[in-house]
This record gives sequence, C-alpha cells and structure tokens, in this order.
Amino acid sequence: MLTKVIEQTKIDHFTKWIERADKIVIVSHVSPDGDAIGSSLGLWHFLYSQDKAVNVIVPNAFPDFLKWMPGSKEILLYDRYRDFANKLIAEADVICCLDFNGLKRIDAMADAVETSSARKMMLDHHPYPDEFCDITISHPEISSTSELVFRLICRMGYFSDISKDGAECIYTGMMTDTGGFTYNSNSQEIYFIISELLSKGIDKDAIYRKVFNTYSESRLRLMGYVLSKMKVYSTYNSALISLTKEEQGNFDYIKGDSEGFVNIPLSIKNVCFTCFLREDTEKPMIKISLRSVGKFPCNKFAAEFFNGGGHLNASGGEYFGSMEEAVKVFEQGLEKYEILLKF
Ligand code: 5GP
Ligand code: MN
Repeated sequence: MLTKVIEQTKIDHFTKWIERADKIVIVSHVSPDGDAIGSSLGLWHFLYSQDKAVNVIVPNAFPDFLKWMPGSKEILLYDRYRDFANKLIAEADVICCLDFNGLKRIDAMADAVETSSARKMMLDHHPYPDEFCDITISHPEISSTSELVFRLICRMGYFSDISKDGAECIYTGMMTDTGGFTYNSNSQEIYFIISELLSKGIDKDAIYRKVFNTYSESRLRLMGYVLSKMKVYSTYNSALISLTKEEQGNFDYIKGDSEGFVNIPLSIKNVCFTCFLREDTEKPMIKISLRSVGKFPCNKFAAEFFNGGGHLNASGGEYFGSMEEAVKVFEQGLEKYEILLKF
C-alpha cells in the first residue's frame, strides 16, 4: 500500500474537472527532460484512455534518447507549431502543468497559459511553487513528477487503466530523475511503484538501455574531452566542466550530447559539488547545471549567482556573459560558500 501523499480534497477536485472536461492540455518545461516527457506522456496515455481530447505541448525539442517513448510523436513543440498550440491552450477546459513550478519555466508559452481561461492544475516536485494554478499539487519530497502521476491516477481510482505504454513513460521519468535510482531514491515506496509498473508488463532493463546506452561515438569523445580539461577545486571539494560553442562544433554536438556530464565529477572522492557550463547555441548565454551530494544547496547557489533555482541537489540557471566571466562567478561563489563545502 502507498501512503496517501496527495491531499484528498485535491484529488476529488481534479477528478471532478476531468469528468467534465473534453479538451485537456498537458504542458511541461523548456528543454524537457525524461521526467518532463515521462510524466506528461504518462498522464496523456491515461487521459486518452478516458476518451478525452488531450494534447501534450512543450516549449521546444526534447533529446533523441526519449523519442522511443510511446506517444512521443504526438507531442507538440510550441516553437514549431505556435499558432495551433495557442489555439489548443486557449480552448482547453483544463491545463495540467507538469514538472515545473513557475511560468518562467515554460518560456514563450507562459503568456498563452496564463491568459487561457482553462482551469489549471500543477503537479510538480520543485520547491516553492508560484501561485498560477487553481489546484497546486506540489511535493518536493517526491523524487519525480512521474511518480506523482502514478500516485494521482491510482488515487483517482484508475490503476487498472494504466496501460503498458503509460507505465513505460512513468517508469522512464522516475528512472531519469533519480539517475537510474542512484540518488533521491531511498524511499521504499518507489520500489513498490516499480513493482506495480512491472505488473503492467514493462521491461525496465530495456528502458535503461534505451535511455542511457544509446549515445553516439562523438558524445563519448566529447565526454573524454571535457573531462580532460575539468577543473577540480580540492579546497572546496568541487569541480567544474565547461563547453563552448566552438568546442561543440568540433564534436558534431547535437542537443542532449552533454546530458548527464554534470554528474560525472561527483564520482571523484570528496567532490560534493559540481558545475557544468555550456554555451547555448540558440540564445547568447551560458546554461548552468549544478549538482551536489549531501546538504549543499545547489538551488541557493543557482539563485544567488545564476538567476536560477531547482532542487537542493540538482539545479540550474543562466548567465548572460562570457564563459570566462561565468567561471569567475562560479569561483567567487565557491569562496562565499566555503564553509558549507568543507567537511
Ligand atoms: P539541469 O541541470 O538538468 O538542466 O536542471 C536540473 C534542475 O535545475 C531542473 O530540474 C530544474 O529544477 C532546475 N533548473 C534548471 N535550469 C533552471 C533555470 O534556468 N531556472 C530555474 N529556476 N531552475 C532551473
Ligand atoms: Mn522532475
């Protein structure tokens, strides 16, 4: 049995909406990751099985290693089909906001979602949710939004309507947001849920291979390159890796090729805080990814220095300036946070 994490009143409220709704839109955050796509498609499969007109819309493209997911071809990219997406958002009865906690995280879609007269529900696990939804289901203690999707559907009384396809999507999101169940994954109930998903016929080992073992040769060579020039700050138990636009060009970089790089330096003994700086190819900015193990608050660091946020152990942000400047800002941050980085 699972603990009743989501409040009953919210379940009842949302169930009523869904019973009455015809048109439903599911939206998730910019540069969607495994949990954004997994949770959105997990909910999409369920609502589709209830004969709803339901669409998933995300601001921009998602990585190739998620394109095998059942239903992924139906996902609408806002930056490509803006007018059609705007129409769906404006005409929706219900909008489900999955895996993000503030309109800023859906970029160019924010206006359309904010001004739509649809009822809005947030289902998310990022701390400090903004108030833009009528129902806010926010559980930072839960390691993925996909897990929350499973919990929501079950509590609505529809476990039997979760299909194998839906279960695969939910599993993928749970797996990617915990690094293949290597962090934020000590809750016993995660494994109860996995066992329920296995009962739907999913092949969890195949899913692991499809997500984590399908990289290109150039990605592996790129990984070797960034690690060879990694900076380790042993006094601060920290490390930094970076990638400029020019370097991306040298390795035939495609979106997603640097996914997960930020975690690698955490495998060095005593390193508990890592930063990955990547020059963006679309906007004139440096995209920041931060990871920590233990109590070091990446989200505080991201908010203070890089106009970002996120979870305690996994956060991100943006820096408008040169790579050299971004590295300097990071190093100043290390000095300021020295006490928290020593043990
Ligand atoms: P990643 O490093 O995988 O891009 O992001 C890790 C986490 O950091 C995300 O799940 C999200 O919570 C947060 N995050 C990433 N980029 C941003 C950003 O620009 N702003 C905010 N507020 N959070 C971010
Ligand atoms: Mn997530």
